[in-house]
Amino acid sequence: MGGRTLTYHALVLRVRQSGESNREAFFLTAEEGIIRAMVFGGPKSKLRAYVSPFHSGTLWIYHDPVKDSRKVTDFDVQSWRPGIREAYERTMAAGAITETILAAHGGGGNWQEPLTLASQSLDAVSMAKEKEVMLPFLHFLWNWADILGIQPDINHCGVCESLCSQDEYMTYSGYDGHLLCSRCGGVYHHQEQSSSYLVLSPGARRWLTVTSPLNPNLVSRYNMDNTALNQVKTFTTALLAAALGKRLQSWDFV
Ligand SMILES: [Zn+2]
Repeated sequence: MGGRTLTYHALVLRVRQSGESNREAFFLTAEEGIIRAMVFGGPKSKLRAYVSPFHSGTLWIYHDPVKDSRKVTDFDVQSWRPGIREAYERTMAAGAITETILAAHGGGGNWQEPLTLASQSLDAVSMAKEKEVMLPFLHFLWNWADILGIQPDINHCGVCESLCSQDEYMTYSGYDGHLLCSRCGGVYHHQEQSSSYLVLSPGARRWLTVTSPLNPNLVSRYNMDNTALNQVKTFTTALLAAALGKRLQSWDFV
């Protein structure tokens, strides 16, 4: 009595076994953010095949208000992203994206933007060359930091507020989450990279700046040398780790 079916624009983040033949699925939706629902049916069920990680489309969920339970009644998959399962590196990068979303998602009422970023990032991973899956993943982390409201200003010093030129090194301070100019943070350039002070080269800053407003599908056009790539990886994962209070194992897929 009183139950109703709701429609969502949804991306499957994670599916796990629940009981003998049922599964529990986690979705990122444009309407309500992350929701959890049961998927009934045995191994040969069509619905069970549809509700698999990285698929997205239109989802119908029946909500029983008495038991406060949700079950998937139908899922019209519009994006299958078969490329993700064709290569180990892509599967790992895609899993790192969905695990990050489950670990820390932005609040508030606007879920369309996070869903669009997640969907486009998985599209890019699905089509990326195996050696380049790191690029859409790092692009995702940097822009997810923006959605969480923790993305520091990459052009201004967080201490003296001066504008930093394009060819300037900056230092990320893990203590206060700021980026520091070469004068305020320069003393740390001579030290080893640590979790407290991370150096970002001009190449690393340029990549973050140029790719930031881009669709992740275009990210692989902008390459970095290995030093800059490692800096961006250390920096973006440190940002997210600070927000989560821990590092996710899934980030270290390479
Ligand atoms: Zn400064």
